[in-house]
Amino acid sequence: MVPMLTTERAVIGVGGFLLLLFCEQRWAFKPWVEPRLRRYALNLFIIGTNTLVLSILLGGLLIAAYQAFELQRIGLLQALGVGPWANALASVVALDLVTYWWHRAYHGLPLMWRMHRVHHSDRDVDVTTSGRFHLTEMTLSAAFRLGVIALWGASLAGVVLFEIVFGLFNQLEHANLQLPARLDRRLRAVFVTPAMHRVHHSQIPAHTNSNYSTIFSWWDRLFGTYRVVGEQAPLKLGLPEYRRRADVTFGKVLGMPFGPACRLAH
Ligand SMILES: [Zn+2]
Repeated sequence: MVPMLTTERAVIGVGGFLLLLFCEQRWAFKPWVEPRLRRYALNLFIIGTNTLVLSILLGGLLIAAYQAFELQRIGLLQALGVGPWANALASVVALDLVTYWWHRAYHGLPLMWRMHRVHHSDRDVDVTTSGRFHLTEMTLSAAFRLGVIALWGASLAGVVLFEIVFGLFNQLEHANLQLPARLDRRLRAVFVTPAMHRVHHSQIPAHTNSNYSTIFSWWDRLFGTYRVVGEQAPLKLGLPEYRRRADVTFGKVLGMPFGPACRLAH
């Protein structure tokens, strides 16, 4: 069951990525400011490194840990004897909520912001941005999530379901696409849309400091960080600290967590 689930997760992830990449070439909402191939090379290098370390080298270990938690009945939902479907659905909602606050911590704590600014330094936002997270951030987040899953008692199926849904929304909301206004309005009553998340990547600090959710837009509404920007064409994306092409070269981006501190996002 486990190899099948991880294969499905990989196929869905790669499929979603390629589909959105194709759509962006045809229906891009914002013109790219960086040379597209240069950015793709950098972002794909980051995605490749993260996949190699966290999915290929450590993936089996993480899956074995989730399986062990379930077998040993570790965590709240396991102790309560919650059924498999309820566990899976509750785990998707709970892990998305925890990720909302974890994302806020990346913006609020200087050490964490050093890592997360790699993601925000992208001067264009498209599906490749969805995987532009420094290995330090990805590793820290994987360790944190492991602890949360142990406490919460998510089943292995719940974790994999969360990862699939989370991965797809992460790709969709970074896509350089604009949904029809009516569809966007309806969808964002429950879910995060590309227009909602684009605001989070705006250079204006008040914008960067909003719309932290990944799957459900509820969390931003509930915790007062929801922001709507109607006219998005003029929005400048990225960070003011890295507004020149020379600021986001291969070496500078990969060294950002270790370089000089910069303004916090709030
Ligand atoms: Zn962020």
